[in-house]
Amino acid sequence: MDFQQVFGKPPETQASAPGRVNLLGEHTDYNDGFVLPTAIPQSTTVQLGLSSDSHHHFYSENLNEQVSILDINHSPSGFASYIFGCIEVLQKAGYKIPSLCVYVKSSVPMGSGLSSSAALEVATLRAVRQLLNFPIDDVEIAQFAQQAEIHYAGVQCGIMDQMASSLADTEHILFLDTRTLKRRVMPLPDNAEILVIDSGVPRTLATSGYNQRRAECEEAARSLGVKALRDITDVEVTEKLPEPLRRRARHVVTEDNRVLEVLQGVSSERFGELMNASHASLRDDYEVSVPALDTLVELLQKTPGVFGARLTGAGFGGASVALVVAGEARSIATHVLEQYKQAGYNGQILVPSLELSDAA
Ligand code: ADP
Ligand code: MG
Repeated sequence: MDFQQVFGKPPETQASAPGRVNLLGEHTDYNDGFVLPTAIPQSTTVQLGLSSDSHHHFYSENLNEQVSILDINHSPSGFASYIFGCIEVLQKAGYKIPSLCVYVKSSVPMGSGLSSSAALEVATLRAVRQLLNFPIDDVEIAQFAQQAEIHYAGVQCGIMDQMASSLADTEHILFLDTRTLKRRVMPLPDNAEILVIDSGVPRTLATSGYNQRRAECEEAARSLGVKALRDITDVEVTEKLPEPLRRRARHVVTEDNRVLEVLQGVSSERFGELMNASHASLRDDYEVSVPALDTLVELLQKTPGVFGARLTGAGFGGASVALVVAGEARSIATHVLEQYKQAGYNGQILVPSLELSDAA
């Protein structure tokens, strides 16, 4: 199916936005801290046309599903909530939007931690901006996208995903201060490329675990008399907290410091060491890893050509990210996935999106 087949006429405009992977700075964005995401090659494309009736119509090629919004006072659920949310936050900000036909297609894997949700939102907002000539900049696009996800999809997210999708590209990493939104686009580490492998273990406890960690961080910040853990720079300060708050805070403070070290300019080797340290901290202090992810990350870390590796995303399952020697990702992935299989797990390459049969 394409736009024409679904809506009976060609689209008037289209826009795309990429997914993202976070290289360093995990569980720091809700502590007002620092993150280092990059865009991935996979992206989402949204095509738009004017609706010939008074209703919005949304179609997802990936889900092969169409939703029509018959009553704009009732927010839809599922994928339509992200698109409807984008339209509604724009309307609430004073932009007038006619009834639209929206066609979505994407190569970003859904629900794997590569932020297909932000890609969908940012692509939708870009397409609407283009169709109606709205004077909205890329930071505002990210902010509208985050509002849509929080208020219409019901996900209490930070702003990292949307900022990465709106402002990053695949050749650069985006340093972002999530409190001030100050940012810097930096080149990828020298002679390196990124490899993302899914652990094959779904993120089952992610929501409850995430909420619990958020609450612990807020309590730790309160006990230390600061607005957010980002305000602590000396890790010694966390020593006075009771467990487990001490270790939770130690992760956030050391993780922020790791990101700030990258900002000073580091070699690929050092970048890799910081990723390895991040994984250990997420595993031991933050306790958001699972045995499968630990196994996968250890296999990556001991493979020649890998500068460093860690879990990426909220944890409790999901994906790993590694920084590897440029040109080696494919052979490293094949080697690691073979050993991972022998350990009893089934992983999958997400970036670069290789066909395993090709790699064999
Ligand atoms: P992630 O952002 O890590 O991929 P989320 O759970 O935040 O995972 O977002 C996934 C959800 O976003 C999907 O369940 C779906 O509702 C929506 N979504 C993303 N991309 C698409 C798409 N191409 N078509 C339909 N829905 C999509
Ligand atoms: Mg998401």
